[in-house]
Amino acid sequence: MARDYYGLLGVGKDASDTELKRAYRKLARTYHPDVNPDEAAQAKFKEISAAYEVLSDPEKRRIVDLGGDPLESGAGNGFGGFGGASGFGGLGDVFEAFFGGGAASRGPVGRVRPGSDSLLRLRLDLTECATGVTKRVTVDTAVLCDRCQGRGTNGDSRPIACDTCHGRGEVQSMQRSLLGQVMTSRPCPTCRGVGEVIPDPCHQCGGDGRVRSRREISVKIPAGVGDGMRVRLAAQGEVGPGGGPAGDLYVEVHEQPHEIFIRDGDDLHCTISVPMVDAALGATVVVDAILDGAVDITIPAGTQPGATIVLRGRGMPQVRTGVRGDLHAHIEVVVPERLDSHDTELLRKFKEHRDRESAEVRSAQTPPSGGLFSRLRETFTGR
Ligand SMILES: [Zn+2]
Ligand SMILES: [Zn+2]
Repeated sequence: MARDYYGLLGVGKDASDTELKRAYRKLARTYHPDVNPDEAAQAKFKEISAAYEVLSDPEKRRIVDLGGDPLESGAGNGFGGFGGASGFGGLGDVFEAFFGGGAASRGPVGRVRPGSDSLLRLRLDLTECATGVTKRVTVDTAVLCDRCQGRGTNGDSRPIACDTCHGRGEVQSMQRSLLGQVMTSRPCPTCRGVGEVIPDPCHQCGGDGRVRSRREISVKIPAGVGDGMRVRLAAQGEVGPGGGPAGDLYVEVHEQPHEIFIRDGDDLHCTISVPMVDAALGATVVVDAILDGAVDITIPAGTQPGATIVLRGRGMPQVRTGVRGDLHAHIEVVVPERLDSHDTELLRKFKEHRDRESAEVRSAQTPPSGGLFSRLRETFTGR
């Protein structure tokens, strides 16, 4: 048979969240174990906490309203099953959420704990990103104390139970609260929650089991890395308290701007300024492509300003596959700003020869500039 959760809290089936809270708070003041150590009171407190936990959860409350019992899974044989083992682990959580916590006992924390990860930034130029590189880097992390091997003790001395907390790792104090006098716990200040102290600590690490160390290590950066990518070096991070296992070291790539190429993922972009006549007649331009050395780029005769010449597979390699992106050469056509008399004469002749051509006014359908490369340049220079 389903439990009467509303009845336990003494509220009606239409009780609002606020009414539920108020009812639970009121009952908790009477039955909380810190206030009322009586065994019957403790059982009652468990019941009302369970009722509050159920009714304050819309899903569980719906089950109740449909005549079911959300806590009735498996063993559920009435309130007798409310002991610690009945899957009723939420009590501490409910209680903490409600009264702002700290009543639940946590016991001592381990003296030996895992260390944290650390992060190192590494500047690489585009060529290094493209080829991959092995770099010596200086890391500054906690390492295992070699004098005590992490034990933190001097010679053969041993840690002893903390006097302040008697090994519990926490100290308790009485506080006035909504529930009247309530016992609260906090980590022991003497042993910092560990429960034991080292009376004769290691002279090198002061009992921490680790010391700071600056050292050089080699980092192998794979080909194709890009700005912001991280290379993980397992167990090269901080050694934990008490000589605990080291965290990982992450080396983050900071790609330096290249004087010619702008990178977009695996593609590379550059601009080629082509003299007007070369654009008209065609030309070959040599580009120092990052991975391929000098590469000929053929500018076909009649190339227009804004044209893009794509060299497939001449871009950056992908880190995982090694498959290379493309190289995009964006063509800019340069009109001579000054002409000597000879040039002028030649061009006039050219014009006479092409007398069918003249300027033409059209609608402004196409943007004056734009396209991928301008966007890239804007992103890149922040303009
Ligand atoms: Zn202590
Ligand atoms: Zn030491």
